[in-house]
Amino acid sequence: MIKVYEARVDVLTNVEELLKKIPQVDKLMQSEVFSGCEFYHNEITEAVRETLADLREKIKNGCTDTIPNDSELANSALLKAKNKASDKDIKRVINATGVILHSNLGRASLSESAIKAIVESASSYCSLEYDIGRGNRGNRTGGVEKYLKDITGCEASLVVNNNAAAVLLILTSLASGGNVIVSRGELVEIGGGFRVPDIMSQCGCSLHEVGTTNKTRIDDYESAVTTETKALLKVHTSNFKVIGFTESVDIKELSKLGKKHNIPVIEDIGSGALTDVKRYGLHDEPIVKESLKNGADIVSFSGDKLLGSLQCGIIAGSEKYISVMKKHPLYRAFRVDKITIAALEATLRIYRDTSATERDIPVISMLSVSDDVLKARAESLCDEILKRGGYADVIKTKSTAGGGSVPGLELPSYAVSPAGSQSADEAEKILRLQSIPIIGRIENDRLLLDVRTIFNSDHEYMINAITEMTKLSESKS
Ligand SMILES: *Cc1c(COP(=O)(O)O)cnc(C)c1O
Repeated sequence: MIKVYEARVDVLTNVEELLKKIPQVDKLMQSEVFSGCEFYHNEITEAVRETLADLREKIKNGCTDTIPNDSELANSALLKAKNKASDKDIKRVINATGVILHSNLGRASLSESAIKAIVESASSYCSLEYDIGRGNRGNRTGGVEKYLKDITGCEASLVVNNNAAAVLLILTSLASGGNVIVSRGELVEIGGGFRVPDIMSQCGCSLHEVGTTNKTRIDDYESAVTTETKALLKVHTSNFKVIGFTESVDIKELSKLGKKHNIPVIEDIGSGALTDVKRYGLHDEPIVKESLKNGADIVSFSGDKLLGSLQCGIIAGSEKYISVMKKHPLYRAFRVDKITIAALEATLRIYRDTSATERDIPVISMLSVSDDVLKARAESLCDEILKRGGYADVIKTKSTAGGGSVPGLELPSYAVSPAGSQSADEAEKILRLQSIPIIGRIENDRLLLDVRTIFNSDHEYMINAITEMTKLSESKS
């Protein structure tokens, strides 16, 4: 009994002694380990405090009876800071989902020249609203407009925060206080609470619905026109498809009606394809130039969907209406920054050379890549993984354009599927938690990494991650 008691006192004294030996936060902060590291002072302090608190706990629980030296402790703190940093903030991920315009993953990736333009305008002053030739104030989006005229044949244009803002500005400036005619088949919700009927009331317009969910004819619009009608609106049903017996009025027919009554015809085309994307299988996707050629007075579309630039909304069309929008206070509230303009200008420049778009604009490259190339890519990734001792199979799959463009459209593609002993869920988690997260999708109990959306420059990283994960396990296949 006495022996046990003495032993306990011994342990307690030992714990007290050990606790006293833990270095002070300030002392550890002086460690060489932190000099030149990428963390701010407060981040290091936090990591050091937590590291020492962990050690204190371990000693109290009897899990350790030694105190690491200062440099070991500092290194643990540095690792802690690194782990904390990777938990938060926006970080680069590898999109292996096969969804080209993945809204959760930031939609379009930009061309090299757009990235260069962003860096240049962000890291210095730039001629955002300055006319260098004349030495006085210039037009903010003059460059964008010059290219848009060339590519789409529009008379004038505007750039705002996103397409949702574009629609808001168009309706508020042109149709507030009046009514706007829309087909019942086009009363869509685009996502994030952007619903056409709600937008209408927000803009001070009353919505005049015509036709039915599946069929609307030109007579439906015609008989709805009154002196109160301020616009005819057509909305691209970009995130759903009505199949079966359907009928809708095309922009050509609607424009004739608009001209007859002198009412502006507005088309929210959603994605905003600037090139002929029909040849990539996107048959139902409206093209800006065609919509304008077919008589739309105003067309609005996103900058970060099929166009392949940064988030913005573009309004293109007739000078008469756009000049009204330019003077509206909402335009000032919705206008975009120098970075967005720089990226958009650089991206639009590429579109003027049709042969360059497939090569230089990642979204278009991903759409245009052939089945053979995708297959070869998946096979070579798998071969390399096998060569290095890992396991993976090539699986035929289907990618999608995403980003609210072309609902239901699937593009044939190929995926690399890890074939270790992990379940699909486990493998998905392991790859998602890599330092550069690899985001795939699970189909029929297999994790698929669709090669269409994976950049070539990420192949080596993926090969390593999959090899590491699968090599120590039994092959499934
Ligand atoms: C995506 C989409 C919008 C919203 O565009 P954002 O640029 O995301 O604001 C609006 N209308 C249609 C038809 C769309 O497809």
